[in-house]
Amino acid sequence: MEETVVKMYTVDRNPEVRQGGEGRRWVPAPSCRARARAAPRHGGSCPLCGARSQSVVCSRSMASKTPVGFIGLGNMGNPMAKNLMKHGYPLIIYDVFPDACKEFQDAGEQVVSSPADVAEKADRIITMLPTSINAIEAYSGANGILKKVKKGSLLIDSSTIDPAVSKELAKEVEKMGAVFMDAPVSGGVGAAWSGNLTFMVGGVEDEFAAAQELLGCMGSNVVYCGAIGTGQAAKICNNMLLAISMIGTAEAMNLGIRLGLDPKLLAKILNMSSGRCWLSDSYNPVPGVMDGVPSANNYQGGFGATLMVKDLGLAQDSATSTKSPILLGSQAHQIYRMMCAKGYSKKDFSSVFQFLREEESF
Ligand code: NAD
Repeated sequence: MEETVVKMYTVDRNPEVRQGGEGRRWVPAPSCRARARAAPRHGGSCPLCGARSQSVVCSRSMASKTPVGFIGLGNMGNPMAKNLMKHGYPLIIYDVFPDACKEFQDAGEQVVSSPADVAEKADRIITMLPTSINAIEAYSGANGILKKVKKGSLLIDSSTIDPAVSKELAKEVEKMGAVFMDAPVSGGVGAAWSGNLTFMVGGVEDEFAAAQELLGCMGSNVVYCGAIGTGQAAKICNNMLLAISMIGTAEAMNLGIRLGLDPKLLAKILNMSSGRCWLSDSYNPVPGVMDGVPSANNYQGGFGATLMVKDLGLAQDSATSTKSPILLGSQAHQIYRMMCAKGYSKKDFSSVFQFLREEESF
């Protein structure tokens, strides 16, 4: 099985002062193309292997405050685009739902009427769309990005989609002389607003620095995962674990409550014991245990159960194609699907606690 090399980069806003060192933080050796750019006396070739630099890519990544295209201004895209604005990037905006663009238009950003028009005006574009189908439409549709994409453009897709679709889109984009990277995110809406998302980036490593320049405005961790599709792979694995852990946390809390324990006390004990996890101490699914989480607000906001079903479907497809057993992942997929069918589709995925409480027959 192909080994995925995960490299963690520290984002210091200024990539020139990235810290190297032991453990998880380190700076990669310069790429062939970077060496080529830094060694003009070698005729624009890498002095080690002879690979040539691509000046078009170089000029695009140097053009730091030229307009950036942003497509998909939903729960995540809206605050992400605003963080780019805060860093001084003018935006070219498009969303199929025109109301999503209104506040950006009011703020003086340019709203256009198709992804193709975004591609005509910007040579760096970020897409933040719900599903694989939406991404295919935005890139390859009748008025998609590929209709007007400029050579050397950098197209970063931060949606969570099928890694196989990312690979197909990358091939199509490459045929047009542009570059595609998958860069799905972890952290949710709160991290999108605070600029603390984690980006998992797949694609050509030589392009990572250019992607990092933009992604670092929206996230505190920008991680290079390897070839195209590996960002999606990392995201899918994370969300499958999140989905399973949430069910485990909800089951344990529900059982404890039924056994007569006070939910706040039970959470406190779990959080000082070996059962502790991010969901028990920072995203507890039981109403009244914590403030500022979806369970404290009738499961509004947060990460919708429907999106979790989508991500578990992607995990299921990936497990089938790689012949990997995901017994708990499959079970979790069925549980969240049943929840959505029973009226929880618009609620945060932590409402699985409420769903389990209502399922007396389990
Ligand atoms: P959302 O539904 O709130 O927003 C998506 C936006 O894309 C909407 O405004 C929609 O009108 C627009 N859109 C759909 N198709 C389009 C098209 N063809 N062209 C242009 N615009 C189009 O979704 P979201 O919560 O912002 O999630 C976006 C992605 O991020 C998803 O893939 C999701 O899995 C992922 N994600 C979400 C969260 C979260 O907490 N919401 C966390 C991590 C990752």
